[in-house]
Amino acid sequence: MSYDTNNIFARILRGEIPCRKAYEDDHVLAFHDIHPQAPTHILVIPKGSYVSAADFGAKASDAEIAAFTRAVSRIAAEAGVEGSGYRLISNHGADSHQEVPHYHVHILGGRPLGRLVTPL
Ligand code: AMP
Repeated sequence: MSYDTNNIFARILRGEIPCRKAYEDDHVLAFHDIHPQAPTHILVIPKGSYVSAADFGAKASDAEIAAFTRAVSRIAAEAGVEGSGYRLISNHGADSHQEVPHYHVHILGGRPLGRLVTPL
């Protein structure tokens, strides 16, 4: 899948759409999900143009990957969910219901989150 420069997260990165920012550095932006599924629901995105986790893992530089990984745990700690626990989700492709084709990790916490996936 090629990168769609008009996806909603690309527009947030360009400042065309507002977001409720949680964190930013040279490589990473994080903001609160517009439809939160838990008391803490933050989306972490790389500033580079990557469609999904697979694209990011294959093409991002070591510096981008290190910054992103460190940012995720830092943001979760700053959100106050490190002690109580949290879940990281990254959807890739149709079966996962990925809606936005710019790589992102959801940080979910602040309540018991139940099972990882709905049982069949
Ligand atoms: P996914 O299904 O993993 O692609 O999730 C995309 C997420 O982006 C959903 O949880 C949406 O609620 C969230 N979302 C979509 N548009 C916005 C926006 N403008 N600001 C914040 N979150 C958004």
